[in-house]
Amino acid sequence: MKYRYVIHPLLNGRCVIAGNHAFHEGDPTESWPYSCYLWLILGGERPVLVDTGLDNVEEMNRGAAHVLRQPITQEPGQTTREQLARFGLKGEDIGAVIITHLHFDHAGGLLAPWQEGQPPRLLFPNARFLVGAAHWARARQPHPRDRASFIPELAGLLEASGRLEVVDGPHSEALGEAVRFHVSDGHTPGLLLAEIGGEGGVVFCADLIPGRPWVHLPVTMGYDRAPELLIDEKRRFLEDMLARVQGRVDHVRLDRVPPLAAPLLLERGRVPVEGRGRERLAEAAAARLLEEAGLADLT
Ligand SMILES: [Zn+2]
Repeated sequence: MKYRYVIHPLLNGRCVIAGNHAFHEGDPTESWPYSCYLWLILGGERPVLVDTGLDNVEEMNRGAAHVLRQPITQEPGQTTREQLARFGLKGEDIGAVIITHLHFDHAGGLLAPWQEGQPPRLLFPNARFLVGAAHWARARQPHPRDRASFIPELAGLLEASGRLEVVDGPHSEALGEAVRFHVSDGHTPGLLLAEIGGEGGVVFCADLIPGRPWVHLPVTMGYDRAPELLIDEKRRFLEDMLARVQGRVDHVRLDRVPPLAAPLLLERGRVPVEGRGRERLAEAAAARLLEEAGLADLT
């Protein structure tokens, strides 16, 4: 089997958040651990990042203090710069950055680490920056509800870079057919979901489905702006993916619940579901039926 693109989820830190922020109507006494990732995609003309990670951890911990039960910690080797170095890459080698949305936990790594007396500065000097059209409008004029999640200087810096591409449709100029974009508005307007490899590729679901617990339709995060809209979008997205997989699914499970920006990996038409995969699908279908019948506890 030949894959053109290779996706590397890069571990970027860990934290623990309170249940009422992890889940809409969640239990504030619960704690949910997260591992934070960004994606590096190799195999195209130039390396591509999906989101940029969180190199300014101290700043993030300050900004997200109300959400975090335990602050984000980054082990040695886990910064975006160090992770890229493992592949022999520097920021200047990156050809494009897909920014799912400009909330600071996804886009903070676009900026060089903060230094006293220095104005904020963009990293990735040769990259095109891809942002969804509706989200770009939001980022330039944030709503009071999520204004605190945007870095005030970032939109201006992206615009002034001359390398911003506002994506308004399924494909971008920078990446062409290699990436097919979907849009979701429930978390924030114009959230970009990137289907890597084009039609039938692997989808980075960002904050539409930020980890395994949120695959379940009624489960949404505490800070989604429109939970019901998000559920409708998630249903349409999953139905569309499942209709397109036609019995050939490769569901890749990471060994940790992925992060504030995490992927659901669904591949279509490449791997026939056989053996244990088929059993797992049968189990999942049985569990779903039991759940719909109100008997989930029996599984
Ligand atoms: Zn977000």
